[in-house]
Amino acid sequence: MMLLPKESATKQANSAMALAPGAFTEIEALLGNRLSTSMALRERHGQDESYHPSHLPDVVAFPTSTEEVSSIASICTRYRIPIIPFGAGTSLEGNIAALQGGVCIDLGGMNRIIAVNVDDMDMRVEAGVTRKQINAHIKDTGLFFPVDPGADATIGGMASTRASGTTTVRYGTMRDNVLGLSVVLADGRVVQTGTRARKSAAGYDLTRLFVGAEGTLGIITEVQLRLQSVPQAITAAVCPFPTLEGAVTAVIQTIHMGIPVARIELLDEIEVRAVNRFSNLAYPEQPTLFFEFHGSEASAAEQAELVGEITRGQGASEFQWATRTEDRNRLWQARHDALYAARALRAGAKVMITDVCVPISKLTACILETRADIDASGLMAPIVGHVGDGNFHVLIVIMPDDSLEVERAMAFNDRLVARALSAGGTCTGEHGIGYGKIGYLEREQPGAIDLMRAIKQAVDPHCIMNPSKIFRAATGAPVAGKT
Ligand SMILES: Cc1cc2nc3c(=O)[nH]c(=O)nc-3n(C[C@H](O)[C@H](O)[C@H](O)COP(=O)(O)OP(=O)(O)OC[C@H]3O[C@@H](n4cnc5c(N)ncnc54)[C@H](O)[C@@H]3O)c2cc1C
Repeated sequence: MMLLPKESATKQANSAMALAPGAFTEIEALLGNRLSTSMALRERHGQDESYHPSHLPDVVAFPTSTEEVSSIASICTRYRIPIIPFGAGTSLEGNIAALQGGVCIDLGGMNRIIAVNVDDMDMRVEAGVTRKQINAHIKDTGLFFPVDPGADATIGGMASTRASGTTTVRYGTMRDNVLGLSVVLADGRVVQTGTRARKSAAGYDLTRLFVGAEGTLGIITEVQLRLQSVPQAITAAVCPFPTLEGAVTAVIQTIHMGIPVARIELLDEIEVRAVNRFSNLAYPEQPTLFFEFHGSEASAAEQAELVGEITRGQGASEFQWATRTEDRNRLWQARHDALYAARALRAGAKVMITDVCVPISKLTACILETRADIDASGLMAPIVGHVGDGNFHVLIVIMPDDSLEVERAMAFNDRLVARALSAGGTCTGEHGIGYGKIGYLEREQPGAIDLMRAIKQAVDPHCIMNPSKIFRAATGAPVAGKT
């Protein structure tokens, strides 16, 4: 059981009064000292990893079972109190902000591995298990869980944001790797979705309704996951290009040829400089692709050879190989630290992170126009991306107190999203909407929002589940949390 910091009686009482006192008493009777009003914990649970301002929950609850989550939900429904599910808090669009206060349910204590089925290549875990915990647990089985957003996020959080990452080009997103769920609804009912079968045509696909719902429809407490076989051979390489256009063209040719690369990640020259400084590396400061090849010895070598021909055709020099596990880990850790490396380019800065995703044929034009836009805007804004999926991020390094710069960054983000939408793409490939992208979702799918609202109304009629996220409560209502 976790020990929670004690606050002064007055501070606790003041905060708890923000909840109906009866509700606080009932949840406290259930959880004892696993319910906290500590300011430090509320602050930790009101701020994600983004530049969006924090919004604190009134209390933080640490349940350890589906039954406890269910009881908390029914109390919150009776008192009409918002619930904000919380995994590891690594999301990037204000997804966990408690815009209307309420009870933050931290699933971190629900971190048991329930079952590993090696023969069927699947496993069941509680929602608070993290992806690194899974891979450590199954490392001797010859299997691994492939979805890798970089951060050591929880499986419940990853399912809820429909997360993806560096390996998605080969193994898919959370949408493809979740077979079923246990979900607690707002009124406390527990629903099982999906089965252990690899496919099913049984009724509505409720699993995929909750995957990506960002905690607005229910609280995921268990997840059934698909696993993959650890490949016989894994090799990674870094490949610098003379131009950004050459690097992106090489990606598109690789995808068009159907070469099953496991990872193909772009860093522009500014990001390579940032990564070199942050991770003490010495890559040539040019637009660069990071590759990983999985397969048998022969097929991984063949993939590398084919991709080598493509990259040379775009003017790249030889691959710089990372064959030893520790070199590969260092390479991918540097890629995963790209956000922090960009932030470290300016002392005291924050990063406004963008997340567009476009059809692969539009990727070169979209990235080159974006690069020209960055240069014209005078912003410091490196580009990184899961380019094999058509997904890239501009990491706009801003000083949060410089309102003119923040405005310029927001205007740039608007133009970037408009560019992606006109190319048939989306405003978010993987980070979700939270409250940061509500306006962009309206632009992207204006005809679908009413249906989303109707679904929300049917599942969560009192609108207590992570309220004011993904869409406005009603057409024309102000976007919650925006100043
Ligand atoms: C350095 C860095 C790199 C990143 N790279 C990527 C990347 O490559 N790809 C990518 O997809 N993301 C990336 N992210 C974003 C983030 O890691 C993902 O969004 C991740 O899925 C969030 O998981 P979490 O456990 O931290 O969830 P949280 O941030 O705690 O929550 C995210 C959302 O899910 C809801 N939620 C959490 N748990 C549950 C639950 N059990 N039931 C219902 N709802 C729940 C929350 O209410 C919230 O709306 C990155 C973040 C950082 C900091």
